[in-house]
Amino acid sequence: MTPLLTTHGLTKTYGGLHAVEHVDFSLKSGEIRAIIGPNGAGKTTFVSLVCGRVPPTSGTIIFDGEDITQMPAHRRVRRGIAYTFQITSVFGHLSAYDNVALPAQRTLEDGSSSGRLHSAVMSALERTGLAERADTPAGTLSYGHQRLLEVAMGLALKPRLLILDEPTQGLSDGEIASFMELVREIASEATVLLIEHNMDVVMGLAGRITVMNAGRILAEGTPKEISANDAVQRAYLGTENHG
Ligand code: ATP
Repeated sequence: MTPLLTTHGLTKTYGGLHAVEHVDFSLKSGEIRAIIGPNGAGKTTFVSLVCGRVPPTSGTIIFDGEDITQMPAHRRVRRGIAYTFQITSVFGHLSAYDNVALPAQRTLEDGSSSGRLHSAVMSALERTGLAERADTPAGTLSYGHQRLLEVAMGLALKPRLLILDEPTQGLSDGEIASFMELVREIASEATVLLIEHNMDVVMGLAGRITVMNAGRILAEGTPKEISANDAVQRAYLGTENHG
């Protein structure tokens, strides 16, 4: 089967610093893939290259058979690449409902009924457990709920590839458990690429794990293989340096 996403020699340098260095990466449709690695390993830069927020220095990105290396971010969104980022990007003065309505509108044809928009918004809010907070101004939601609202905004785009950057940061244990259920459900219809520092979440969710270190892929494998990998233990798992 053709992979949904591949990168070849993907590189991003800032001055002399190789934030991402010659990364060959491949993601199958329907996977839940976690990217882990110490602070500064290049994880956020890598997904920023994939979604087009940052232009690469060199290398190529292929999505669903198409070279998207030079494609602007908004067109990648239309192709089905949705992302949420470390820094909460909700509009604080708008309600949770309106925050989700903005991306939901982009997936509907011009002239669609307001009923379709409403059901798309409510479906995304329900899946993330935020339906009861539809009218709450996003800025007054707890940090954890704002992160979930970002996921709802991503879902409203009906993505084929959903990229989540540290989605469980700031969530309580109970919220993390429901979040894991949600990601499993999302994975029945989309591919999920997840940067995550919480190792219980990584081990519990990911089919495969990619470990980055100093801009490169250090290792890749199943949770079992990665837990047993000596180089990974040394670079990451054995240390307390978990962002
Ligand atoms: P964290 O877990 O802390 O988010 P990360 O693995 O996501 O780390 P990146 O944020 O991708 O790592 O950063 C990789 C390297 O690139 C770091 O050394 C960082 O300082 C550097 N870097 C990232 N963005 C920029 C930028 N816009 N300008 C200069 N250097 C940058």
